[in-house]
Amino acid sequence: MKKMEYYSLNHNAPKVSFQEAVIQGLAPDRGLYFPENITPLSADFFKNIENLSNEEIAFEAIRQFVGDEIPETNLKQIIAETLCFDFPTIQVEDGIYSLELYHGPTMAFKDVGARFMSRCLAYFNKDKKDNKNTVLVATSGDTGGAVASGFLGVAGVDVVILYPSGKVSDIQERQLTTLGQNIKALEVDGVFDDCQDMVKKAFLDENLEYKNLTSANSINIARWLPQMFYFFFAYKQLKSQNKPMVFSCPSGNFGNICAGIMAKKLGLPIEHFVAATNVNDTVPQFLATGKYEPKPSKATISNAMDVGNPSNFIRIQELYNNDLKKFEKDFTSFSYDDETTRQVLKDIYKNSGYIAEPHGAVGYLGLKKEMQKHSGAIGIFLETAHPIKFLDVVEPVLGIKLPIPAQIESVLNQEKISVKIKTYDELKAFLQSS
Ligand SMILES: *Cc1c(COP(=O)(O)O)cnc(C)c1O
Repeated sequence: MKKMEYYSLNHNAPKVSFQEAVIQGLAPDRGLYFPENITPLSADFFKNIENLSNEEIAFEAIRQFVGDEIPETNLKQIIAETLCFDFPTIQVEDGIYSLELYHGPTMAFKDVGARFMSRCLAYFNKDKKDNKNTVLVATSGDTGGAVASGFLGVAGVDVVILYPSGKVSDIQERQLTTLGQNIKALEVDGVFDDCQDMVKKAFLDENLEYKNLTSANSINIARWLPQMFYFFFAYKQLKSQNKPMVFSCPSGNFGNICAGIMAKKLGLPIEHFVAATNVNDTVPQFLATGKYEPKPSKATISNAMDVGNPSNFIRIQELYNNDLKKFEKDFTSFSYDDETTRQVLKDIYKNSGYIAEPHGAVGYLGLKKEMQKHSGAIGIFLETAHPIKFLDVVEPVLGIKLPIPAQIESVLNQEKISVKIKTYDELKAFLQSS
């Protein structure tokens, strides 16, 4: 296994190793890192996949991207700690499956990326006595909780999470403000984009460089790449049906779907991808008009997808060598408003008894639309959060009371601890004093 090199998609920074890319997050020219080579997995691997454990599959999928920088036994250990829960595919109706990615510690699909990244960082920091990293992350909802939980107690890493005050659910807020230890929450008087802007500013601020800031958003390759695993796990479970597969991802920053496309690049036979969005429709608009026009984000009931300028879209274009024709063959994108989302939540529940939540419901909508063009295929939508995470929407819409899972119960009675900030200078003061 040799070294994998990563280049910046702005093409104005030196190539770096896996380790450097993980620690830096973003390249010095502000570009996203992208692997220099992508080698498809062997035909044998796909032929045998149903006989492999999730851990074995994950190891095969990720090892070329890590290269020799983490020894095989350590990488296997990291993967085992990352994948300590299930990823079931649940039949919702004929030919339509929900891939439930929410059985992890914070009941959000981001648990996998956060756990994998934190353990890679811990590995790289293991011999550095006084060289701390500070993970700085902005969250519109679910990232924060997953990062907080994934990094809790990881040696040599402090975590600072910015979230928009009053714009995340009570459960989400508790998941990121109650853990303590190396996890600090900053409650920002503003919207998600204000949080994101402050984080970007901090990364550009020369005076802060000694802090070794790193990101834990899906711009970081160690957060982004392990999301490939989901698509392999779904394939493994549904392969025996012998039908082409269409995947629909409820998309915000487009990291998850971009990882799915990477899985396809590794040889996973996926017929088509749907990026389903809420009214933050920059990508559906791009596909309709050919113009990529980032917009300020709008608040919706699927708030983890309230993103006006999806950071990973550039990686998707790179995966298609910026060939729009090829890209459009594999990929469609649809946008849905909150009313349609609420209605379909109700319909799914009425027709099949399945309880989705707003993000999964948007994925389901996009999937159903696309499936009209793929008779003979099966469709899989990604359920990215447990309905309890969005109970403010799900309970009134379905007229039911959801039982509270143990993972959530454990944070509900904890005391919230956050620091309120409004400006970048306050963030800077906080980082410099901690
Ligand atoms: C983050 C998130 C998404 C969007 O994922 P991207 O990789 O940013 O496209 C969808 N649903 C939930 C619940 C999320 O937390």
